[in-house]
Amino acid sequence: MVTVNTIQELCSLELASLVKSTFQKALQNGQLVFSPSKHEHYTDPQTGMECELMVVEGLRKRPINRPTQPGSDEKISSDKIEQVKAKNPFMKPEPELTVIDTLLHDYRLILNKFPNTEEHFLMVTKDFIQQDTLLQPVELELMLTILRKLNNSDDKFFAFFNSGPESGYSQFHKHIQFMKLPPGFHVYQNSLVENSDFYIPTETSESKKPLVNKNLTFKHFVLKLPKTFASEEEQQSTLALMYMYLFKRVLNVFREYEVDSSKLSYNFLMMDNWMMIIPRRNAFFDGIWQNSLGFMGLFTTKDETVKSKILHHGAGTILRECGFELDPTDDSHKYDEYSY
Ligand code: AMP
Repeated sequence: MVTVNTIQELCSLELASLVKSTFQKALQNGQLVFSPSKHEHYTDPQTGMECELMVVEGLRKRPINRPTQPGSDEKISSDKIEQVKAKNPFMKPEPELTVIDTLLHDYRLILNKFPNTEEHFLMVTKDFIQQDTLLQPVELELMLTILRKLNNSDDKFFAFFNSGPESGYSQFHKHIQFMKLPPGFHVYQNSLVENSDFYIPTETSESKKPLVNKNLTFKHFVLKLPKTFASEEEQQSTLALMYMYLFKRVLNVFREYEVDSSKLSYNFLMMDNWMMIIPRRNAFFDGIWQNSLGFMGLFTTKDETVKSKILHHGAGTILRECGFELDPTDDSHKYDEYSY
């Protein structure tokens, strides 16, 4: 069992080969529900978004363990939480799927048992913590450290966190996911940050707003990450400030659209050079379930029927309906006395 006590230890670990070898072994031993899927490239005509479509075997078998269902007005009760805890797969993960058993005392890295792609893995909390809690500074630091360890000229991983009842999560125990992009995949967020300097955004400065791709149909907010940090403390506080700034954009969208705060939902994504948030109104559209992946341009489906529905509606429509419509002429970052 691998134990990692500090960020420095994590930095000196051969993480990429550890993830690879754990994945290969678990696959050979039949502990993963996975067969490589055929990727189909597709450019969404409405937005120009580069997308990949894949039929994922595991999606038909993935368990759903959450206290309420999307679209329901039911409040999360303590009874429901106890039921979720009783069925929780992350409390005692399968040892064969475990990459790091103890990470900074409170976390584990485990393989996704129903992966979308090879080496799809999760960072889970050791204790039961609800998925709808905020990301902690140390969690943001771990996300970025892991991404910067794994990413090189061949492999490009991104991390994502689905939070809130309409964010598309299937498990309620706190988890952050890491997934490899298809080779040569176009990352639209890179085009936004490449032409920008790093800055810490502020509500009141016109020049320090989040970046937006105005060709897209859904509200989203992107920030460039700095290349280096002076210290671990500075890394945690910078990432936390940036994340909280993005989280406040979500609060403002929910206030503006008068959506009940019990429905507060968003997808948070990170790569080694940016972070992004997408406020979420609906977990699905016409039976097409979406979590963070669609907003990256990755569409996973359980079968050919759902795949043809995706092609019929198009990414732009599906993502607009699952998020909040982006009006490219509206300055949605305006700050007033009621803003967060
Ligand atoms: P989400 O759907 O965003 O909540 O992500 C939860 C992930 O956990 C899904 O992608 C599942 O495939 C994965 N998962 C479900 N059960 C297990 C398990 N027993 N071990 C590892 N991963 C699991």
